[in-house]
Amino acid sequence: MTGSPRLLDPRELAAARVLVVAPHPDDESLGCGGLMAILAAGGARIHTLFVTDGGASHLRSSSWPRERLAAQREAEAAEALARLGLGRHPRSFLRLRDADMPAPDSSGWSGARDTVRQLIACFSPELVLLPWRRDPHRDHRDSWRLVTDAMGLAGSPALTLEYAIWLDELGAEADRPRPDEGERVAVDVSHLLAVKRQAVAAHVSQTTTLIDDDPEGFLLTEATIQRLTGRLEIYVRPCGG
Ligand SMILES: [Zn+2]
Repeated sequence: MTGSPRLLDPRELAAARVLVVAPHPDDESLGCGGLMAILAAGGARIHTLFVTDGGASHLRSSSWPRERLAAQREAEAAEALARLGLGRHPRSFLRLRDADMPAPDSSGWSGARDTVRQLIACFSPELVLLPWRRDPHRDHRDSWRLVTDAMGLAGSPALTLEYAIWLDELGAEADRPRPDEGERVAVDVSHLLAVKRQAVAAHVSQTTTLIDDDPEGFLLTEATIQRLTGRLEIYVRPCGG
């Protein structure tokens, strides 16, 4: 899949109910914060599903044990949603273990999939924003599979758009979208760049030295933030999706 993506007018999507799937708190803002803000401003109801607890970013910190960090990341997610104009929109936290999700088809996996299936059956999204299916981060791939499996079980006819976070930095050639898999589309979010960057900045534990006792802890680099907060948000619209 090469060449320039087709510019997508969000009004084409005509979605009143949108499910956003974030493997970790921060992926929603980095990957699709602009489109979320556009759709919410247009009157759509947006349910954001945070799949993992985000508790693995600073595993060596003694002052921020996993439970404290996970709670912090939920608070950051709520602040990011508010900054995107989604303060009153619903959200769910599945609280699977960051970087340690249940193996596909294990009992833990089936339980999580059933929770997502129920959410989809109740909310009936017309559009689902998903992580790219072969994003190099395993939690992103597993989140894609968990939610697409749940959509299949629920018989969801929703259109899907997939956003990549780590593909351009860490992906192998085989991870990239193939021409037969779908169409690359772009949403112009240039009027929302400040809003989107403020939403990313709400994830203080991932963007600042708030946690200062784990030298190996994860931080988003300025280069990654710049790359993902440009004028266009890029999605893959799968064939038949
Ligand atoms: Zn992520």
